[in-house]
Amino acid sequence: MKDTDSPTHKNMKRIFSIFVLCLCSLALWAGGQAKYVFYFIGDGMGVNQVNLAQTYLAALEGRIGIQPLCFTSFPNAALVTTYSATNGVTDSAAAGTALSTGSKTKNGALGMKADGKTPLQSIARQAAAHGAAVGVSTSVSVDHATPAAFYAQQAARSSYHAIGTDLVRAGFDFYAGSDFLQPTTKEGGENLYEQCQKAGYVIARGYEDFQSQQKKAKKLLLLQTEEASAKDRSSLPYAIDRTDDALTLSQITQAGIDFLSQKSKKGFFLMVEGGKIDWACHSNDAATAIHEILDMDKAVSIAFDFLKKHPEETLIVVTADHETGGLVMGRGPYELHSDLLQHQRMSVEAYAAHLKELQKQHGDSLSWDTVKQDLAENWGLGKEVKLSEKQEKRLENAFRSMKEGSSTDHKTLYASISALADAARATLAECALIGWQSGGHSNGYVPVFAVGVGAEKFHGQMDNTEIPLRIAEAAGWE
Ligand SMILES: [Zn+2]
Repeated sequence: MKDTDSPTHKNMKRIFSIFVLCLCSLALWAGGQAKYVFYFIGDGMGVNQVNLAQTYLAALEGRIGIQPLCFTSFPNAALVTTYSATNGVTDSAAAGTALSTGSKTKNGALGMKADGKTPLQSIARQAAAHGAAVGVSTSVSVDHATPAAFYAQQAARSSYHAIGTDLVRAGFDFYAGSDFLQPTTKEGGENLYEQCQKAGYVIARGYEDFQSQQKKAKKLLLLQTEEASAKDRSSLPYAIDRTDDALTLSQITQAGIDFLSQKSKKGFFLMVEGGKIDWACHSNDAATAIHEILDMDKAVSIAFDFLKKHPEETLIVVTADHETGGLVMGRGPYELHSDLLQHQRMSVEAYAAHLKELQKQHGDSLSWDTVKQDLAENWGLGKEVKLSEKQEKRLENAFRSMKEGSSTDHKTLYASISALADAARATLAECALIGWQSGGHSNGYVPVFAVGVGAEKFHGQMDNTEIPLRIAEAAGWE
């Protein structure tokens, strides 16, 4: 591997830097306020997650080094601390609240002080109060912690139905995500879809439906199709597993721009969460996490295209709520083989489901040879990814105990993964020399990147609570 950037890559970087510099000087010269604000939050996206995505892209080109993403090329960046009011390691509710309201709270609380009683004001509400159109969107369910931190005021992040009611009550112009987790309650009454419609929301199911319905809608809730929700209402599929008909974060971002830009002459605020970077990291699934980051970067580049058209009025901020998994690149030897992750064809969760199918198809006659070939096809294991005897033995043992029915699933926060699927994941991570400390969050720094009007406010080391305050400053929403 060469250790330098290719000449074309260097040139591209130079052109991009000059372009960004021009945009920034234009914005400074205009001295204006950010009329259009994009706030991207990569859930679980610590500095190492970002670094891994860039390192992986360079490795695919046969280089040691990095291939910058759209958002890592922004001119301003800072390191962000994420601890909560009560815990050295935050959860997504407390971190989301810090990023939305500028106040620390206890883990689990949404838009509430640590006392669990005093409501906090989010930047989304401030934007709305100043006449901006407001959108809150995510690749997971609309009532999940990060999006909810922008509209809900609840002591417990798990009160999904109540959070949904808060969504309607906040009355923002645009919401998007997979679905509601708990549209109905045991007590009956109006379900959340009915509440939305009563409050004047058009509910669009999928991007095509959005396109046909958006013109006549005053307020809009964009969800995935009912078929997709019947399979899994908790989130959009992982980018690595996605089929063409699935709703994507890029479509959501484009929809948010199209819808919000017609709604107010005073601009808009759009929060977009890449929610499943965190889920992949809870499963210690590096390839899937990389694809989620690249997928969010695509959504960021849609916002960046908008900024190019409105350079003196747009601010884009990209950050994360916390790090997940304690990800490290390097496990002892001074080497890294992140390129090997390209041989993983699906998420570890999808592979666990695939193995169940395989067992169903073959029944008792399922052989190690068949599974070995399957591991080669879907993970490159034993094929592009060379295995030691010990590693092959571990996989075979996991297969034997799966067959005997004596293996126990590996439970992560969002999934239950069979031991063999998890062994495949762990083996590939070992070969790629990627390490994980846990299946939970860590206190690691997260990055913040910014471009556009007010981007210069993001520098040095910051606390997560300062981010919404500086956005509000840049937009004049204080
Ligand atoms: Zn998490």
